[in-house]
Amino acid sequence: MNGAEDRGAFTLDDLYAMIPEMQCLPGCTDCCRLFGVPSRTPEEDARIRDYLYAQERSILPAEGTRCPYVSEAGCTIYPVRPLTCRLFGTSPTVLCPRGARPVELLHEDVEAEIHHRYRLFWR
Ligand code: SF4
Ligand code: SF4
Repeated sequence: MNGAEDRGAFTLDDLYAMIPEMQCLPGCTDCCRLFGVPSRTPEEDARIRDYLYAQERSILPAEGTRCPYVSEAGCTIYPVRPLTCRLFGTSPTVLCPRGARPVELLHEDVEAEIHHRYRLFWR
């Protein structure tokens, strides 16, 4: 059985939709500058590549602990940022160091389900 069969019709976008919306502090990009290039599945990598190529931009190399896609204005690949970036700050296990939060933090059971489902996208 391959990964696609394990996931059934469940897509990355379905997974992303399980994560609550969160507003960052205006102008803050601290976590993008401190925690390195986010891990991403092959499908997320392909989405980023396609997004960059559609804008005639290039895939950028890592820059130490700084994500190469962060700018003064924020994330420059925001629509296709990977799950790690979407989760950050939304869960009690990855709280924002600046205190930004969604209206309601992820419940641990939902977070566990997200991680469980996300694993299937690495196959
Ligand atoms: S999650 Fe927190 S640290 Fe990261 S950019 Fe948003 S406000 Fe800043
Ligand atoms: S992909 Fe975007 S949100 Fe994620 S670390 Fe890089 S700049 Fe930040």
